[in-house]
Amino acid sequence: MPTYRRGGHVRGDDDGVERECDLCDWHCVADSYPALVREYQAHLRSDHPKAWLRA
Ligand SMILES: [Zn+2]
Repeated sequence: MPTYRRGGHVRGDDDGVERECDLCDWHCVADSYPALVREYQAHLRSDHPKAWLRA
């Protein structure tokens, strides 16, 4: 009796994390969540300083 396993593949090109800015069209793809947060914080600080201060 054959057993088919579905959904067992790990998609190598889908490992990144992505974040969009709530305030503009900026978005970022990074390898890890901490790197993404750092990028997003840097974007907020330079482009939306008021939002960054609130965060
Ligand atoms: Zn933005």
